[in-house]
Amino acid sequence: MKVLMIGAHQDDNEFRCGGLAHKLVRLGHEVRFLSMCNGCGGHHIMTPEETVKRRAGESAAVAELLGIKYDVWDIDDCTLVADLETRRKLIRYIREFSPDLVISHRQNDYHADHRAVGILVQDASYMLTVPHECPDVPAMRRMPVIMYNEDAFKNPEFQADLVFDMDSEIDTKLRIAHTNISQVYEWLPYTNEQEVPENEQERFEWLKGMEITESTTDEEIMAASRGYSVRFAKTAARFRKELIRRYGEERGAKIRYAEAFELCEYGRKLDGEVKQVLMAI
Ligand SMILES: [Zn+2]
Repeated sequence: MKVLMIGAHQDDNEFRCGGLAHKLVRLGHEVRFLSMCNGCGGHHIMTPEETVKRRAGESAAVAELLGIKYDVWDIDDCTLVADLETRRKLIRYIREFSPDLVISHRQNDYHADHRAVGILVQDASYMLTVPHECPDVPAMRRMPVIMYNEDAFKNPEFQADLVFDMDSEIDTKLRIAHTNISQVYEWLPYTNEQEVPENEQERFEWLKGMEITESTTDEEIMAASRGYSVRFAKTAARFRKELIRRYGEERGAKIRYAEAFELCEYGRKLDGEVKQVLMAI
């Protein structure tokens, strides 16, 4: 199976579907990340050019860690728009890879770049199969299955159609976060007015936010305010009902970390190999 995960920025795929990416790679599937923006806006001290270069290095490290190919388009942060030119660029790009599954943003989002990605993916979906649109790249015979990453926006609210146990992936997900140094230890703490410890080990503990054990309750997790362990645990706490429905009462109640996805109605129906693979995870 070929899977394409499309984010606006270099960290969107990592944090929202990095665990699923890692699981799929280990099962022998081919996973590719695309960041539609180049990362130029993500720093308060480095110049945009320096930031693009540094982010590219961090993304290359993530690609190696996950065993994936990672493409970054040269579109400046905060300037992505869902115009015809970008839609056609995306149609050609998706056709060339010809994925069975695409994962991306919903268009309900605070960030204009995320919204634009959501719209572009939806606008491209049916056109992927239309031969006279972008005739220089052969059209796909079938649309891919399309899913949206989890978000917290409420109008309308994200629906967790598919939930996955990510307990085996928490170390990888934290290592991915730790690899994005310019983001998690520099830029995001700057925007959130947080102090970051200097020492490497203390920094990593700070990154996690809180020690989550078997006895930590969903209420405690939902009440915690920061940290990547907390962030990934919140998905499990938020969608406890769905995890129990999927994995049964005993296992579902114990899962600490999860990833959740909503099916996009403009993609192919979830069936065949894609369904089989996802249901076995
Ligand atoms: Zn983003």
